[in-house]
Amino acid sequence: MSIKIAIDGPAGAGKSSISKEVAKRLGLVYVDTGAMYRACGVYALENGIEITDEEITPHLDKINIDISYEEDGQHIFLNGVDVSKRIREPDATIASSKIAVIPSVRLKLVELQRKIANEKSVIMDGRDIGTYVLPDADFKIFLTASVAERAKRRYLEMKQKGMQCEISKVIEDIEFRDKNDSEREFAPLRQAEDAILVDTSELSYEESCDVLYSMVKEKLDTER
Ligand code: C5P
Repeated sequence: MSIKIAIDGPAGAGKSSISKEVAKRLGLVYVDTGAMYRACGVYALENGIEITDEEITPHLDKINIDISYEEDGQHIFLNGVDVSKRIREPDATIASSKIAVIPSVRLKLVELQRKIANEKSVIMDGRDIGTYVLPDADFKIFLTASVAERAKRRYLEMKQKGMQCEISKVIEDIEFRDKNDSEREFAPLRQAEDAILVDTSELSYEESCDVLYSMVKEKLDTER
């Protein structure tokens, strides 16, 4: 039987890096659902398609997303091309947030996410995993941090990667994405009733990994 761990939370809360590390320690597959929305956003950008329901929905059949799990983690392919790096660029970030509001896009990606979770034991991160994608997950965590802290981390990460950015712009992007995610009608970002809230504002990356690892491990041990 496969194990399903759901990790949700707002942009920049550290979900991806923490989930990836915890999955590694526990021998589970880490599934980054944000990457799938990003890949759809890249499709729209590269084909000059306006990101609205009317414009995007007719193209959905032409968007093929494949995921592979390699030594260095998840790789995402858009119509056969590895777009794992491209999806991290700033225009793809904004496009992913806009495209994630469209219900037909979400339905398509949720189907893929559920299929992966049925085949493998996973830690899946996103915005609606505990509430919509895997409501029967074995364990749910809602990971958050203050806007200021999330922006600071994102800013430092971008600088480290040699990307040009200003902190005020990073705050603006985070607020834009929080608003889009929380206010959309279909599967908005919110904490599932049975999810445990973890605020990492005062925790380092290592401390956050240790906290999550202990929580998930304890839960899995009691279930075995
Ligand atoms: O997690 P990440 O920041 O890479 O996600 C990119 C975008 O995809 C988010 O801004 C969010 O709007 C969307 N998303 C979503 N539901 C998920 C995962 C991501 O709406 N399960």
